[in-house]
Amino acid sequence: MIRMSGPFNRKTSSNKLRLVSACLIGIDCRYDGKNNTNQRLIRLFRKGKLIPVCPEQLGGLPTPRDGAQIINGTGKDVLEGRARVVDKKGHDVTENFIKGAMETLKIAKYLGVKEAILKARSPSCGSGKIHKGFSDVLIDGDGVTATLLKMNGIRIFTEEEFVVE
Ligand code: SF4
Repeated sequence: MIRMSGPFNRKTSSNKLRLVSACLIGIDCRYDGKNNTNQRLIRLFRKGKLIPVCPEQLGGLPTPRDGAQIINGTGKDVLEGRARVVDKKGHDVTENFIKGAMETLKIAKYLGVKEAILKARSPSCGSGKIHKGFSDVLIDGDGVTATLLKMNGIRIFTEEEFVVE
């Protein structure tokens, strides 16, 4: 059985096919070549219920890569041309982030997926809260991919909201 924690305390089917941030099921796709393994999600992945995606890799970025953040805005601002995504060396990787979001959406549409479990606070995958630039401060908003998926009717949960019992 799967339940939502915190304010999302609603039960939902474990049989539904969902996208998942690949780093959450142990894939070393993070900017530093590591992952954010979540054992509960790995169990669900092993049952064939999760489709792993890494929007930053799908956008053509290498691994490892310099960490990047959205400057002066959120994923919505990036998609609407008001903010950019810049890596720690100052390279503009906005187009990679947008391409990765579009490729992720393509996978969701091909499979008819309506839900995704995405890594909290990431400039790509974050939902609800993301970092303000490279600071530790969190602001309200979504990463670039999470924004595009939501705009297309896909429900997003972070790994912190999505709990498998
Ligand atoms: Fe994980 Fe998403 Fe970052 Fe890829 S883009 S490493 S899936 S948080």
